[in-house]
Amino acid sequence: MIEMMNLTKRYGNGLTALRNISVQIDQGEFVYLVGPSGAGKSTFSKLIYREEKATSGYIQVGPFNVIKMSNRDVPYLRRHVGVIYQDFKLLPKLTVFENVAYAMEVVGRRPKEIQKRVNEVLDLVNLKHKMRTFPDELSGGEQQRVSIARAIVNTPSVVIADEPTGNLDPETSLEIMRILDTINTQGTTVLMATHNRQIVDTIRHRVIEIENGEIVRDQKEGDYEYVH
Ligand code: ADP
Repeated sequence: MIEMMNLTKRYGNGLTALRNISVQIDQGEFVYLVGPSGAGKSTFSKLIYREEKATSGYIQVGPFNVIKMSNRDVPYLRRHVGVIYQDFKLLPKLTVFENVAYAMEVVGRRPKEIQKRVNEVLDLVNLKHKMRTFPDELSGGEQQRVSIARAIVNTPSVVIADEPTGNLDPETSLEIMRILDTINTQGTTVLMATHNRQIVDTIRHRVIEIENGEIVRDQKEGDYEYVH
């Protein structure tokens, strides 16, 4: 479902952030992306939803040939890929409901449809009772739950989470993991870049480790750190 072949990303300043990456992630997998800061994890994620364009190689995400597709078609790719950020990126002047609804409005869904689906996803992240609240009145964990609801509202086949628990305490992080696991169990592929050793070691999934722009480990039900 996500296939990368000999994928290389060189930034404008000449820095090669990813070198010759070849990997396949099947529909419905849950994958942790680990590695030190600067290893290339964010770049790896950004190439999938075409926030950055690869320099060479091949990347297929569902039906999309991501490098070849024109800029005009990128919005279609974005419906297939929901993104969750460490700092939530909610719109401060919109309520919880409006933040999530907005993601459906921009892809032209009808108001009735929006009403129904937003209620559904807010229910899933347990925030229906806060739908008229503004982001700055929510805890970090609640804000992250809104951002998860926004990421999945258009029923993407892939969810990419870049350090989703980076700003949260251990208990709240577990709550976020439970939601991501639920989404995954429903068939959505989840790719999560993380430094959270405890989570990776307790909630086991495939681990892809990147170091210096290359995949140095790809392990089924792996640990945060490979013990030789
Ligand atoms: P990680 O997410 O693992 O911390 P990144 O993918 O953010 O790693 O960064 C990988 C490398 O690419 C780093 O050396 C970083 O400085 C560099 N890099 C990231 N974004 C850019 C950019 N827009 N322009 C130039 N270099 C960048």
